[in-house]
Amino acid sequence: MTGEGSGTRDEGRGAVVDGSSRSTPGGPPQHHGGTEASASHHHSRARDTGSPPLVPRPSSLLPAVSVRDLRRDYRMGGETVHAVRGVTFDVVDGEYVAVVGPSGCGKSTLLNLVGVIDRPSGGVVAVRGRDVSTMTDKEATLFRLRNVGFVFQRFYLMPTLSARENVELPMAEAKVPRAERGARARELLEYVGLGARERHRPSQLSGGEQQRVAIARALANRPALLLADEPTGELDARTGEEIIRLFGRLNADGTTIVVVTHDEELARAAQRVIHMRDGEITRDEWRVASGERPAGGPPPASG
Ligand code: ADP
Repeated sequence: MTGEGSGTRDEGRGAVVDGSSRSTPGGPPQHHGGTEASASHHHSRARDTGSPPLVPRPSSLLPAVSVRDLRRDYRMGGETVHAVRGVTFDVVDGEYVAVVGPSGCGKSTLLNLVGVIDRPSGGVVAVRGRDVSTMTDKEATLFRLRNVGFVFQRFYLMPTLSARENVELPMAEAKVPRAERGARARELLEYVGLGARERHRPSQLSGGEQQRVAIARALANRPALLLADEPTGELDARTGEEIIRLFGRLNADGTTIVVVTHDEELARAAQRVIHMRDGEITRDEWRVASGERPAGGPPPASG
């Protein structure tokens, strides 16, 4: 990737999560809207007004993501690349959104802005009603740790750590007590089907398994939002399908997902597809459920 200083595109790798200790044993990440108070499109009037709800809200009043006239320019030598040029959309809780479009159209840039890895040149991004566009780096790091899980094409696991230790890492950063970390990491590895591999290091795991560890890590701190940039990009078709099924199950279990992808099958699994071209949204397509049921997911609704 051609770097241009500000907002190195991978600086958030491995930084996933939220520090909520409200847990449902065995469950995937729980939403916990409530600590981040609302912000307008213009100024954050965020104010923490109380403790989070005891039970996760299936549907918060605040959109999970709110993007308004978002722009990101990169200066390359004398030239300016308008990677994202005035994009507006919301993602509500529980949605599963795929962002698609030709290479270079700004998908990753957009995702990095939503994931608070990068900062906009203009416009606003609010995550759970909290304006993240104007945060200091320190605020952004903390916010990301607690609210956003990020999955990358190339996994970015720590090679010297075991699967479990990798999953524990964001919890350690969020100062989750040690005993809780281990239990939660095991739970998550079970969830992604790697209960028996917790002691393996990344080099001892297949690509698909590594990606599943990375997904477990992204969920460690129960983020409001799971973001993924080409999560099947490094995987063969069959392994990719496992990841697609896992995303389907996560979404069925309540996780809000935004995924950037070239993988048509992955895009098909989403309920909504945002099409981009030259830094703009050209189509925002909602679809009825495809009827594909993720393996291992909850039983289909009767009827
Ligand atoms: P996509 O994810 O759709 O392939 P990107 O968001 O990676 O597209 O890139 C959008 C445009 O912005 C491209 O023209 C790309 O070259 C440019 N770009 C992306 N990141 C940087 C960067 N760090 N510095 C300069 N230009 C960049």
